[in-house]
Amino acid sequence: MPKAELHVHLEGTLEAELKFELAARNNVDLPYVDVESMRASYVFHDLPSFLTIFYEGSFVLHHEEDFRDLVYAYLRKVASQNVIYAEMFFDPQQHTDRGVSFSTMIEGLTRGRIEAERDFGIRSQLIMCFVRERSAESAMAVFEMALPYRHLIVGLGLDSDELDNPPTKFAEIFRRGREAGFRLTMHCDVDQKNTHEHIRQAIEDIGVERIDHGANLLDRPELIEMARERGLFFTVCPYANEMMRPGENQSIARGMLDLGLKLTLNSDDPAYMEGNYINENMLMVHDLAGFGPDDFITVTRNAFDAAWIDDELRQELHRKLDAYAMASV
Ligand SMILES: [Zn+2]
Repeated sequence: MPKAELHVHLEGTLEAELKFELAARNNVDLPYVDVESMRASYVFHDLPSFLTIFYEGSFVLHHEEDFRDLVYAYLRKVASQNVIYAEMFFDPQQHTDRGVSFSTMIEGLTRGRIEAERDFGIRSQLIMCFVRERSAESAMAVFEMALPYRHLIVGLGLDSDELDNPPTKFAEIFRRGREAGFRLTMHCDVDQKNTHEHIRQAIEDIGVERIDHGANLLDRPELIEMARERGLFFTVCPYANEMMRPGENQSIARGMLDLGLKLTLNSDDPAYMEGNYINENMLMVHDLAGFGPDDFITVTRNAFDAAWIDDELRQELHRKLDAYAMASV
């Protein structure tokens, strides 16, 4: 099925093979003798332990070519799963803090996108995320660095460790971002402290158009109503749900769909999640939450509607899905 992905962290697509290759290219010492032992290290048990492994990965990214290779490898992989459009998160603070310049990073990522479109026909855009456990000042500094590249970045997001880092900590940056024409989304991870208040802030105080994850909204009728009224989209990641709350994709993914919320399905950090890309995540809700062909068409239509693209491209994506749906009746 032609499809879109809207919730994937580029740094979370760094497969062990590429990490090894980049480490050799850039003379970075890694504490692993081979790809297999590195892959074995991609194991975590909660959000902080995941983030430790995840950030180690970014240490091998230094030059424009490295960022180009990262995005190109992800887009090549998902083009093979018939993803025809992707919006991809990147975290500049992971890189600028190590002395990588913003221009090196954005130019490499952009070149990878252009070359992947040329080679595989896949369209894509970038969403810049702020690392929420760092200060608002640090986020504002990268926001300022991004302004000259506004035309290369479609939206702003917020990710990483949510504990005691509420959406309103970044209210001023998101206000300025909206003024500058960026589209807005935010992570509200599953079962975090103060999750309901964080979801409310993201919707009411920040005015996001999407929530990344957002499962705990289902606990509160007033939040469900708010999301319905505003036509909010949810970028849900079945494998990540399974890690956080085993056995509950039925209640989360199926629950959102049954309530008429605008669910989309995504992969989050596939390299660190046992290589589960978007197809594998869709298979997971097929097996665990009873999703059938009509449900997959619904979530894919939602993703095309949620995409931050012009009407011409949106119609083109929908036409491809229509053709698929007609052919598979
Ligand atoms: Zn995420």
